[in-house]
This record gives sequence, structure tokens and C-alpha cells, in this order.
Amino acid sequence: MSTPLLEAQGVRFSYDGRTPVLPGTDFALREGDFVGLIGPNGAGKSTLLHVLSGWLRPSAGKVRLAGRPLRDYTARDLALHIAVVLQREEHTFAFNVLDLVLMGRFAHGAGTLGFESEADRGIALEALAQVGLEGFENRRASELSGGEYQRLAIARALAQQSPILLLDEPTASLDLAHQRHLYSLLDRLNREEGRTILVVSHDINAAAAWCRELALLQCGEVVRRGGPRELLRPEVLEEAYGVPVAVGELEGGQPLVAVRR
Ligand code: ADP
Repeated sequence: MSTPLLEAQGVRFSYDGRTPVLPGTDFALREGDFVGLIGPNGAGKSTLLHVLSGWLRPSAGKVRLAGRPLRDYTARDLALHIAVVLQREEHTFAFNVLDLVLMGRFAHGAGTLGFESEADRGIALEALAQVGLEGFENRRASELSGGEYQRLAIARALAQQSPILLLDEPTASLDLAHQRHLYSLLDRLNREEGRTILVVSHDINAAAAWCRELALLQCGEVVRRGGPRELLRPEVLEEAYGVPVAVGELEGGQPLVAVRR
């Protein structure tokens, strides 16, 4: 087997120095993977994503990108490899939309805002178009709805043009049409451009419809990983979530999970 592209090995992480959120977690993404990370609230999904992105540093264990420890990379180098879409950002509202997307170009050497190259501007505008925000470039971020802001954050990650995309609940504020649009965009980036994608999602049905694999995190450990149809069995979900669950299937084999009343 080839070296994983991005790998956490025996990773321990705790916010308070006592309760381990990640107790020695192993997880790997190989080039071209498209994985949905699911699991109950508080299982550690966002924490694992932050550790893989280099934002949080584990107290033990290893995180490697292309076989090299993550800590050996500069912030700029990391940004050339990994783009991250987080759930919340509160510090960016004073900027306009195009400036925020252009921030995704910094790792590529884009200059100070307002002095960027035509090529960087073109890439940023193209990223906005990809998420359906054409015409929004001069709007202030503070004027956007939650769903529009979420798409802006995705556009910035796309403008980074990194081979790895880590997304934390990217569809949380999106309506059904925009959810589908985003997942089909990720599907295309994965299939046609070979991008490696990890999506944290509490929406199991959406993740199952698009991701090629699901990984189930429980108490900080990846307890199962596999194709959506293989992983989404009532007994597996009932054990993980502690509720009665039914699993059906749409024509074409797309699994459909429902919580029983
Ligand atoms: P998930 O994404 O699976 O819902 P998280 O990784 O967000 O889980 O959280 C895992 C655990 O860590 C939870 O118990 C949560 O309360 C705690 N936690 C998350 N973020 C922080 C933080 N910034 N400070 C302290 N505790 C946190």
C-alpha cells in the first residue's frame, strides 16, 4: 500500500489536559479518498479535523502529510497542501467577499489585498462562480446570510487550489439545492481532479449519498470505516447513536437512514 497522504497515528488530544477527546486515534486519508466522518455529537470529529489540519497540536502521536511530520511544514506550505472549511468564523465580517476569497491565494504568493494579480483575481472569481456566488464579489461579508457565508468559505478553500480539502459541516446552513450543489462540486473535484476530501457531517444521508467511504467516530476512535452501504446498518447506527434506526435504499442503491419515532 502507498504512503497515506495525510495520517494521524496514535494521536492524543485533550482541551483541558485531563479528558482525552482523542485517546490515541488512528486515521488516514490516501490520495483520492472522499471520506465522510460521521458520529455522535462530541465524538471528536471537529477535533480530529483540526488536528489533521495542523490547527491543533496533539500531546502524543504523529500527524504526517506525505510522510513528513506536519510540524515540519510552514503555515504557507501547509496551505499549499490543505484547505480547511470551518463551521464558524467571526473575525472576517469587515472584509468584502472578494478579499476573503483572495486570502485563499496567499500561499501562492498573492500580494497585499488590493494589489493581487489578474490571475489571482480570476481564480478567486472562478471560485465564487463555482459556489454560485457570482456577482457577490463587492458585497461585505457582514451582509451575507449564513448559507451565503458558508459558500464564501468554501470558495476561499477552492481558491487555495490545494490537493486536500477538509470541511467541517460544510452543508450545515445550506438549503437542499445548495447542499446538492456543494456535494456534486466535491464529487467532481474528487473524480476529475483527484482531490482528497474529508467531510465532517452530522447529515448521514447526505454524506452517504456522495462520499465514497464513511468513517464512524465514537469517543475519539474510528470504530468503523467502509462504503456507505456496508457501514450504514441499523445495528451499527443504533449502537453508535443509541436510538432505533431504520435503513432503506433508494433506486440505484443510495442508502437512506431514518430515526424511528
Ligand atoms: P464533534 O465534532 O464530534 O461534535 P468535537 O470535536 O467538537 O466533537 O468535540 C469533542 C469534545 O471536545 C466535546 O466534548 C466538546 O465539548 C469538547 N470541545 C470541543 N471544542 C472545545 C474547545 N474549544 N474547548 C474545550 N472543549 C472543547
